[in-house]
Amino acid sequence: MFRPMHAEKGRGSPANAKPLQAARTWLGEQGAAILDEQIEVARVPAPPFQENVRAELIAGKLASFGMDAVFDEIGNLLAWFPTGSCAHERSPVIVATHVDTVFGPEIPIEIRAIGERWVGPGITDNARGLAVALAVLRALIGAGVEPQRPILFAFTVGEEGSGDLRGVKHLLRGGSAPRAASAFIAVDGSGLRRIIHNALGSLRFRVTVEGPGGHSWTDWGRANPAVAIGEFIHRISELNLPREPRTTLTVARLGGGTSINAIPVEAWLELDLRSVSDETLHSTEQRIREALAASLAAERERGQGTLSVEWQLIGQRPAGSLPASHPLVQAADEATRILGEEPEHAVSSTDANVPLALGIPAIAVGAGGTAGDTHTLNEWFEDSDGASGALRLLAILASVAGF
Ligand SMILES: [Zn+2]
Repeated sequence: MFRPMHAEKGRGSPANAKPLQAARTWLGEQGAAILDEQIEVARVPAPPFQENVRAELIAGKLASFGMDAVFDEIGNLLAWFPTGSCAHERSPVIVATHVDTVFGPEIPIEIRAIGERWVGPGITDNARGLAVALAVLRALIGAGVEPQRPILFAFTVGEEGSGDLRGVKHLLRGGSAPRAASAFIAVDGSGLRRIIHNALGSLRFRVTVEGPGGHSWTDWGRANPAVAIGEFIHRISELNLPREPRTTLTVARLGGGTSINAIPVEAWLELDLRSVSDETLHSTEQRIREALAASLAAERERGQGTLSVEWQLIGQRPAGSLPASHPLVQAADEATRILGEEPEHAVSSTDANVPLALGIPAIAVGAGGTAGDTHTLNEWFEDSDGASGALRLLAILASVAGF
């Protein structure tokens, strides 16, 4: 299913041995600088669909060390290393770091030190990833590394929540140069051990039922959308979801009605369906639709008047899985062990979902440090291992881009 990613001939060649060592040495001393840049980036808000101010900051930084990065049509910032490399000829390696945060424009972004920790929205996710990607790119340029495959540093929009991976979906659209990638590495959040090579897929739906409505006394007996939704919830809560592949279904939000003395005209709910298997996602969707049809039929039977239903897909993240034996996972395992850490294989939903579903070998890795309370106002980061996250990324790149 996955395209081959042959180990490059000449990997670790004498020509690159010195530059690689120089890059390592320089990068190893950048722990404090990476943290400073992480804090600087985190202080610039990047709400969903409004990532541009933070992306401009990153573009300025790239320009300051000679990278002419460009914005694509939807706001991804792209920097090719080496500059001007021809990606079509040699399938590139992509390093993707998302620029957006989960926090809307109404949230004040305040980043402060509390003891050993840095606290504030987005300090880790993904200011850490962005700072580490920038540091690694600086190291490659400074040391004059010449990779066998071009490396695309993609600073992506729309990874979180309602962004629905729109940045990476656009980046890897049919016919684009990045679509020919031989490997894709998402750098997201903190940590030194986790290697995500199983993408958790999701489908999100909004279901709206509409009916005639009416007075709760004089019109009683008319079909009630809220009752239909209630029955629907009952039916889907009884669905037997597989444990293997693990699949979950959550009734996440619901509402409807206008007043205490009226039969609702409308009732709605939102569902979050997740699975590590795309096939199971879609077969479960089918079962949910059947449950909805049965619930509507039951309420139409009970009450008078017509009920109509609207089914909206409001989110879609494809699932996918790269075997642990794949050279990309192996390279990440090895890079993790070099740092004295034991690799942990994991499942998550990241920018890597999209390439995995397209058959492009992909992983997501953390960018070092220790963190918690991600996606909350109290998100925190502790610089527990300096430049290790950056060194791990450099080692993975040396292996898969060939230098
Ligand atoms: Zn993230």
